[in-house]
Amino acid sequence: MAGRRPQMPMMQPQVIVLKEGTDTSQGVPQLLSNIAACIAVCDTIRTTLGPRGMDKLIVDSQKRVTISNDGATIMKLLDVVQPAARTLVDIARAQDAEVGDGTTSVVLLAGELLKEVREYIEEGVGAQVVIKGIRTAADLAVSRIRELAVSVDRSDAANFRALLEKCAATSMNSKLIGSQKEFFTKMVVDAVMRLDQEELNEDMIGIKKIPGGAMQDSLLVDGVAFKKSFSYAGFEQQPKAFDAPKIVCLNVELELKAEKDNAEVRVDKVSEYQAVVDAEWKIIFDKLDSIIAAGANVVLSRLPIGDLATQYFADRDIFCAGRVSKDDLDRVCEATGCRVQSTTAGLAAAHLGTCERFEERQVGGQRFNIFRGCPQAKTCTIILRGGAEQFIDEVERSLHDSIMVVRRAVKNQAIVAGGGAIEMELSRHLREAARQIEGKQQLIVSAVARALEVIPRQLCENAGFDTTDFITQLRARHAQDPERFRWHGVGIDEEAVADMYANFVWEPALVKINAITSAAEAACLILSVDETVTSQRSQDPMASSRPAPGHGRGMPMMG
Ligand code: ADP
Ligand code: MG
Repeated sequence: MAGRRPQMPMMQPQVIVLKEGTDTSQGVPQLLSNIAACIAVCDTIRTTLGPRGMDKLIVDSQKRVTISNDGATIMKLLDVVQPAARTLVDIARAQDAEVGDGTTSVVLLAGELLKEVREYIEEGVGAQVVIKGIRTAADLAVSRIRELAVSVDRSDAANFRALLEKCAATSMNSKLIGSQKEFFTKMVVDAVMRLDQEELNEDMIGIKKIPGGAMQDSLLVDGVAFKKSFSYAGFEQQPKAFDAPKIVCLNVELELKAEKDNAEVRVDKVSEYQAVVDAEWKIIFDKLDSIIAAGANVVLSRLPIGDLATQYFADRDIFCAGRVSKDDLDRVCEATGCRVQSTTAGLAAAHLGTCERFEERQVGGQRFNIFRGCPQAKTCTIILRGGAEQFIDEVERSLHDSIMVVRRAVKNQAIVAGGGAIEMELSRHLREAARQIEGKQQLIVSAVARALEVIPRQLCENAGFDTTDFITQLRARHAQDPERFRWHGVGIDEEAVADMYANFVWEPALVKINAITSAAEAACLILSVDETVTSQRSQDPMASSRPAPGHGRGMPMMG
């Protein structure tokens, strides 16, 4: 703080680099206050971890209610403003995008790392020394996971499927749908297996939500389903089901535009106006005729299909739907083997797709366009039912986690046991490795070893077990015979220390690797900041009460 002592104005003019009103705080106190903020954020989500974790009900500024157990969603909705603590929001989101599951764990780990190294910072150990130690420890932990991960042979299909179901079930344990996990694990694994096994693009799994009915009324469609779009008069006269339909997907407007467009046409005589209108009609009829000539009987378009076209199609026993969203249309293309056409000129039978059956069907209170039995089906749709809207939203997020987990497992086929088992083993491994390391680094690596215990500890705490007793027992077992007790962790159902591998609490190794690397990165990032400069603008209360449109506070992301 030496530089900020009041100076004698006559002797030395004060140098002002920053605008008046700018707030800066520096050095170790700043570091410690950032750490405190991160720990505070962690404390709010700690209770959501694991099968016995609680959910959070979050009401945002627009009074929208979200009930969630998903770390990334909660972090996002918490609307954290402390700049350093926002890093935690970012890692939760990154974990969600990268591996889908483990979002609570990553935040907890980062917070615990900071908590464990705080005393060294207070004692004056340089932040860079601590950072180096954390990095070393994270590297050691990751290579240990790679060593330990168990791979499952893909050639044995039944076995492989069982593995996927186990992984899906583990990620569902902690969620609302945990009680129905048999039903949903089957659905999730079926959905992922239906994808192109090379690409495994999870966007090809559509999730549609319809309030009403019970959770078990949800269904998996082996193709594409989407809500009926807005339609015009004449629509009801169209046929609503076809076997082996001929499908065309368009990005073409089939609507008369003359009146509503802004284009200005100056005419002197009424007959000239008529000529303009006629030309307009000719254009649209040409388009419609070329669609019919190509032999299509299901017409989908991203753009509106107006009443004229709707009636024209109805008269010819053709089904049409306009304003279909891009992702639905893409999935129809993927499933039925057609391409989105941006013009109707030269449209031919070769451009059409097909499937076993198309129908428009009532599901709950809504009508759905459903394409089933698709030949190239590398896509499928999950239709979710359930009571309240918030509830279905949370089911969707949980399914997303599971889908991502299964996808990871298909890609890597390497798994570790969860329930705190892998974390205990890593902790033991780091403690042992620390003995070979000299100087302060040894302290930091041991601190990371302690931090890893946060996962089993929190699982115990949330389940209401005697935490100290549990952790001591776990630690003892892992130290005593690392080989035999390797996968021992918190047995939630047994209420005792149990072999989590034998209990089939399996998670993809990648989820854990990613969680540890991201948590370490976040901790290092926070430790490397020793000064926060806040410009006056962002402190302006008006500025913060008016969030820019489209930022923050939005709908929670999937998952
Ligand atoms: P995250 O957002 O980090 O995935 P969760 O709330 O999903 O948080 O909790 C995941 C933790 O719960 C993992 O450590 C996982 O191993 C553990 N877990 C899941 N099912 C069980 C179970 N049946 N017994 C013990 N631990 C479990
Ligand atoms: Mg999870």
